[in-house]
Order: sequence, then structure tokens, then C-alpha cells
Amino acid sequence: TPEIHDAIVLGAGAAGLFCAAQAAQRGARVVVVDHAPEPGRKILISGGGRCNFTNIHASHERYLSANRHFARSALSRYTPADFLELVQRYGIAWHEKTLGQLFCDGSAREILAMLVEECRIGGAEIACGLSLGEVSHADGLFHVRAGGRLLTARHLVIATGGPSIPKMGASGIAYDLARQFGLKVVQPRPALVPLTLPGDEALFRELSGVATPVEARVSDGPWGKAAFREAALFTHRGLSGPAILQISSYWQRGVPLGINFLPDLAPGWMVEAKKANPKAALRRVLGAHLPDRLAAALAERLGITGDLGNLSDKALRAAEAQMADWRFNPDGSEGYAKAEVTAGGIATAGLSQKTMEANSVPGLYAIGEAVDVTGWLGGYNFQWAWASGHAAGVAIAQK
Ligand code: FAD
Repeated sequence: TPEIHDAIVLGAGAAGLFCAAQAAQRGARVVVVDHAPEPGRKILISGGGRCNFTNIHASHERYLSANRHFARSALSRYTPADFLELVQRYGIAWHEKTLGQLFCDGSAREILAMLVEECRIGGAEIACGLSLGEVSHADGLFHVRAGGRLLTARHLVIATGGPSIPKMGASGIAYDLARQFGLKVVQPRPALVPLTLPGDEALFRELSGVATPVEARVSDGPWGKAAFREAALFTHRGLSGPAILQISSYWQRGVPLGINFLPDLAPGWMVEAKKANPKAALRRVLGAHLPDRLAAALAERLGITGDLGNLSDKALRAAEAQMADWRFNPDGSEGYAKAEVTAGGIATAGLSQKTMEANSVPGLYAIGEAVDVTGWLGGYNFQWAWASGHAAGVAIAQK
């Protein structure tokens, strides 16, 4: 016998749990279905176990999407301050780390416990460990087979996220469901992901473990231009660290990556360094600003071994320009296994930016990472989960 609800939410992650709580606390009868044994597993591993739950600078400009304005409506109606107010109400201790990133002092478990409690308060059922079967739609009702259950509701919310980190139970089912209902999908791709370097860049792989603040740039990628000033990390496979993860969302194969190794030094600094100390070797001068191993590798690659005093100003300016825009040509990324998020996804063109409801299928909603809205690193993706979940949850309860 079918169980009748007002809404079935597919996916008990950040977006699904938040949406369910919002709808349920406004009177809707909600069930959340997930194939994982426990809800919110990505929340638990997020932010190194401390969950970077929002960013105070969240605005639509810090998200990638085919429609750069799509996220504006939901983000402005449920803000970082709104989520922080909830966190404080639960007595969860938090701190701002850097660049507006808010983290728990204690553990990501506190955020998950809060979301589960918010569902309980509204009476939303969280049904985990159910493998998802057929999803169908007839006479304005959605029917979902999950485990041995047959669920029926007027509203269906796709909140199953994207395929990044498959070993956590992530899947691309959101895209299959979207296509089943005639919605378009923007080609998904791993984002916030380490990049790999080809063999001829092997010198840099020898620097594995070295980290330094840089500015990483993409000037002419398919998603426009972007630059991030944060740390970069050399790995045995290529490049990682926050600056690289950020820029990876704007990168695709064939697009060069520009790295400024000394973004804080004023133009002309090498000529000045020669004037100040003509007997110094480049390696030593660089070593004042960069980790030793990196300084040595850059000097070697530039082919500058002697004293600065032996080089013309012109040669120094050329070397400086190269260090300010060092070109890397990554040959790929570490893929979904290592990607913090999936960019692309259910096309926003088919969704209402106010309610996240599908324009062509009344009662069907898509929220969170499943949608073609991808935030920067630093709490932006959770803020999108909360804001899009709120938009759909409120809309469901009002119908
Ligand atoms: P998810 O949280 O992925 O939830 C989707 C749910 O759907 C899961 O519970 C899954 O089990 C379920 N599901 C999937 N497929 C199926 C299926 N076939 N049948 C049934 N259920 C299914 N973002 C930040 O803002 N701050 C951070 O600190 C941060 N740290 C991160 C660290 C790591 C290591 C990773 C991988 C991501 C991190 N993120 C962070 C990104 C953030 O976790 C996601 O953007 C966010 O969880 C998306 O929420 P969601 O609800 O849309 O999807």
C-alpha cells in the first residue's frame, strides 16, 4: 500500500535535510530517502571534520553556473547570517578562519545533529539505507519505490548531489532523474580538484610537499577568467592547495594555468634586488620569499646560476615576468575520486530561481549540488545547499 506524503526528498545530504526541515516545520508531511546507511556523510568529512558551514561573503558572483545570476534569488532570501543564527541557537561554537570562512570549533557532527534535530522538530522522517527503485509521475502525483516501500507525494525533490567522491555513496542519479523528466543537464565535471602535470613538468613533481602563497590565474577559459590568491601545494602528481582547487573549477584541458610565485612583490623588484646586492645569487634572493627547494627549482629552470650583478636589467625583468606568470599545462585532474564538488548539473534554465521548481513539471524540484550552481572553496557550497533547500522547502509548504 502506498504511503502518502506531501513531499518526498531524494538524498539526505546537506540540501535534502535542510529542505525537509523547512517544509516540515511549516506543516508539510515529508520523508527523506537515502541509500547510505546514515544521513549527511559528506557533512561529516567536510572542512577537515570541522565543516566550513558557510561564508560571510556568499553572493552569486562566487558561484559558477551557465546562468551567473540564477543563484542570486535563493542566496538573498536565505543568507549566511540566517544560517549562523540557527547555528548559534543550537549553541554550536564557531570561528572565522580566513576569507570569511566559518567553521565549527568542535566537530561537523554538531551541524549534522542540528539538521537531524530540525527534521525531527518538523516531524520529517529520515529513511536511510533504502535503495532507490522506480520513480514515476502520473495524475500530478510522484511515486517512488525505495527499499520495500512505495512512497507517493505531490512534491518530489531531487537532492542527491553530484558524483564527486563515489566511495561516500555519491552518484549521478540526479542527472538520470532530471533527464527522465525532460530537464537538461549541463555536462558535469570534477571541480575544486587537484590538477595533474605531464612528464615534462617533472621538475616540479620533485617539489612534492612544498607549499607557498601564489596567485593562480586562468585568463581565457570556457568559464571566463579568474584569479585566486591563496596557497598552492606541489604534489607527486601535480598541483593542489586552495589556490589550485579554486582555479580548477575554471580550468579545462588545453587551457594554460598562470601562477604568480611572488604576488606580493612590486614590479621591478629584481632590478632593485640587484642594486641592493649585486653579489647575491638568484636562488638566494628568491629564498628570502619562497621555500628553498622551490627557489632552487625556479632559478634552475630560469637558467640563472651566477650573481644578479652579472645580468642585465632586461634579463632580470624577463625573469621576473616569467615568475609572475609561470605557465603550467596540466594534463588533467585527479577526477571525481578527489573532487570536492561537481560543477555542471541540472540546467538552471528549466528551474524557477525563486522556488527551484521545474518549469515544465509542476511539483518537481532540484536543489543543492545536483543543480548547475557551483561555489568557490570556503563554505560557499554548503550555503548554496541551505539557500536552495530553503527556497524549495518554503515553496512546498505554501502549496
Ligand atoms: P550531498 O551532501 O552529497 O548529499 C547527497 C545525498 O544523496 C547523499 O546522502 C547520498 O548518499 C544520497 N544519494 C546519492 N545518490 C543516491 C542514490 N542513487 N540513491 C539514494 N541516495 C543517493 N562544502 C562547503 O561548503 N564547506 C566545506 O567545508 C566542504 N568540505 C568538503 C569536503 C569534502 C571532502 C567534500 C567531498 C566536499 C566538501 N564540500 C564542502 C562540498 C559539500 O559537501 C557539498 O557541496 C554538499 O554536501 C552538497 O550537498 P547536497 O545535499 O547537494 O549533496
